[in-house]
Amino acid sequence: VSAEEVTKAHLDRITEVDSEINAFLHVDAEGALAAARAVDASLANGEQPASPLAGVPLALKDAFTTRGMPTTCGSRTLENWVPPYDATVTRKLREAGVPILGKTNMDEFAMGSSTENSAFGPTLNPWDLTRVSGGSGGGSAASLAAFEAPLAIGTDTGGSIRQPAALTGTVGVKPTYGAVSRYGMVAFSSSLDQGGPCARTVLDAALLHEIIAGHDPLDSTSIDVPVPALAEAARQGGRGDLSGVKVGVVRELRELGGASYQPGVVASFEAAVAQLRELGAEVVEISCPHFPYSLSAYYLIAPSECSSNLARFDAMRYGLRVADDGEHSAEEVMAASREAGFGPEVKLRIMLGTYALSAGYYEAYYGSAQKVRTLVARDFMNAFEQVDVLVSPTTPTTAFRLGERAEPLEMYLADLCTIPTNLAGNTAMSVPSGLSDDGLPVGLQIMAPALAEERLYRVGAAYE
Ligand code: GLN
Repeated sequence: VSAEEVTKAHLDRITEVDSEINAFLHVDAEGALAAARAVDASLANGEQPASPLAGVPLALKDAFTTRGMPTTCGSRTLENWVPPYDATVTRKLREAGVPILGKTNMDEFAMGSSTENSAFGPTLNPWDLTRVSGGSGGGSAASLAAFEAPLAIGTDTGGSIRQPAALTGTVGVKPTYGAVSRYGMVAFSSSLDQGGPCARTVLDAALLHEIIAGHDPLDSTSIDVPVPALAEAARQGGRGDLSGVKVGVVRELRELGGASYQPGVVASFEAAVAQLRELGAEVVEISCPHFPYSLSAYYLIAPSECSSNLARFDAMRYGLRVADDGEHSAEEVMAASREAGFGPEVKLRIMLGTYALSAGYYEAYYGSAQKVRTLVARDFMNAFEQVDVLVSPTTPTTAFRLGERAEPLEMYLADLCTIPTNLAGNTAMSVPSGLSDDGLPVGLQIMAPALAEERLYRVGAAYE
């Protein structure tokens, strides 16, 4: 089949199902078909494909800027914004010949775990339309599960790639902080944000990861190391032999200190551990005593950084502008525009962050959270002296019902297992781990040291 046919088939699928799923905020049929035709033409000329994924279409989270295509980040304030430039990730995809089908739905500014905080309505879970597809990258994950796209891109600040992957039965990877450029990725919490690949198989994720990773002088936190051979690692894992691999089960993510896992999730996790043993891995229990404090530290660090990052949406340089009628001062226009442009969760976080950073509280809140962050990173370092990878369930429960988690704190619990990795800056994957007793997908989380993504792809491919 031609790239054009494959792209057309996915566009047709989007037309067929997306009015129900709401995975896409914007579909660029013309642009995607043009990119596909260019791939077909270059192959017909006998040229080498630009990448192994040339002609394979992709759904891009609406947090990445796309030249000439709207980029809303799920927010009213950016509703009509069309960026004049491409994010580095966008540029790399275009150069690799990957047709971009459109932009996917997300919680506003990536704050949330269900995509219900999107200003443009929630994304529904293709497995059960009464349930959420996770968040903040619910659109990217749902587009894969609904076969609207074979590949997608997400961003993961506290779990927004891995948690939706778990809730939709797909694969999602948070790369090492600095491995994928953040240039042109709308900032939420700059020291935690990281873009990464989403796919239906581990090998597809590896091929996509290789395309988007790499040093970028436009991102000052980008790491200057060669992109590892991830597809090779996935193929090696695919042979199903994990002898010589040491796997650590994180004790603190098994018991969850008070909060409870759904029984079907626990059963799936125990079965996954047994399967890793059967594949030849040595499995031991490992203690990471500071992991239980991760959630609290995250909800100081992420809002603090967001309050600073979101100050740029001042209705002057860009963003929604209201009350600009010549009768209001600039400050009144700014206040009214921010009031109208941001949703409740974003406002809550800006207030929390502003408070935590204010003089007099800075040391008590932000300072303490940074100390916890160091302790969590040390837990990982100690663990990785003993084992090659760590495992846990990706989420405590399967996909919850729309509207079921109305309290922010209940919602925050969805990321209990994913946040430690963001705090430490290392890498982790969620790989499908069968179905729970409620018939919904469960994810297995595999965590590795910084820049050791090969281990994730090897173990993930062996397991899937
Ligand atoms: N759910 C978490 C939050 O609301 C993580 C979001 C993310 O990774 N972008 O902050």
